[in-house]
Amino acid sequence: MDTTVHLVDRGTMEIDLNYPLEGAVTATASDPNPDCVRAEGPVFNLVVDHPAGTILWDTGSHPDAGDGHWPAETYDAFTHHDAHEHPLPDALDDAGFALDDIDYVVQSHLHLDHAGGLHNFAGTDVSVFVHEQELKHAYFAAATGTDGAYIRADFDYDLAWEPLYGDGGLLFEGLEWLHLPGHTPGLVGLLVEDGTADGDDLLVIGDEAYNALNYEAEHPMGRDLLHSRLDWEASLRRCKDLQRRRDAVVVYGHDPEQVASLPELL
Ligand SMILES: [Zn+2]
Repeated sequence: MDTTVHLVDRGTMEIDLNYPLEGAVTATASDPNPDCVRAEGPVFNLVVDHPAGTILWDTGSHPDAGDGHWPAETYDAFTHHDAHEHPLPDALDDAGFALDDIDYVVQSHLHLDHAGGLHNFAGTDVSVFVHEQELKHAYFAAATGTDGAYIRADFDYDLAWEPLYGDGGLLFEGLEWLHLPGHTPGLVGLLVEDGTADGDDLLVIGDEAYNALNYEAEHPMGRDLLHSRLDWEASLRRCKDLQRRRDAVVVYGHDPEQVASLPELL
């Protein structure tokens, strides 16, 4: 199987550390007023260059995130300073691909730092795979204002949606998707057979783990980043089981050290 995976750099987002790590900063008797911490998390996409076509994993933040596309209050908390310097077509170009090369998009979920490049595929026949439950939840969240991490203007286009149903399945030979509910109802991961340069399988789990501590230490994300903690824990078990059986390398959603190491790994 002649599949290669390529990193697409979309810049860096900054958020309060208590979002990705529940209780990271906690007042105690001896330290009643600890300083809040802002944590940097890279935003990236992947290109899976597969014999069946060129597949884009996630589409990052909208380039106008800081210029009104994200509500001011949202941008104040989730601050993607350099989104405008990494629009999808330019970032793809840096990785050696053109927008026109993309045949398929797989959306891990539809949060604002993952779905903001979908507008590039409006009116095209590029298939956009997304879990049925994610697409339904995203429209519900946008319509009711119950979850500010979804922005209707990210996904409300004439797109060639290909809903994914159920628990998981085969997208193409050597390329499996799996439903990992928890962070959102319809988060999906991707298992790429022989996805690393050494021929190891790659298990891309997106925001099931915002960073390495969520996965390795099983430190839960904060409440605002967990639609369902019970589902999140079950999905973590599923990832770890698969990792063991396939001896796979697991790729997290926004871990700075890991993303820095990806170019060597892929
Ligand atoms: Zn997310």
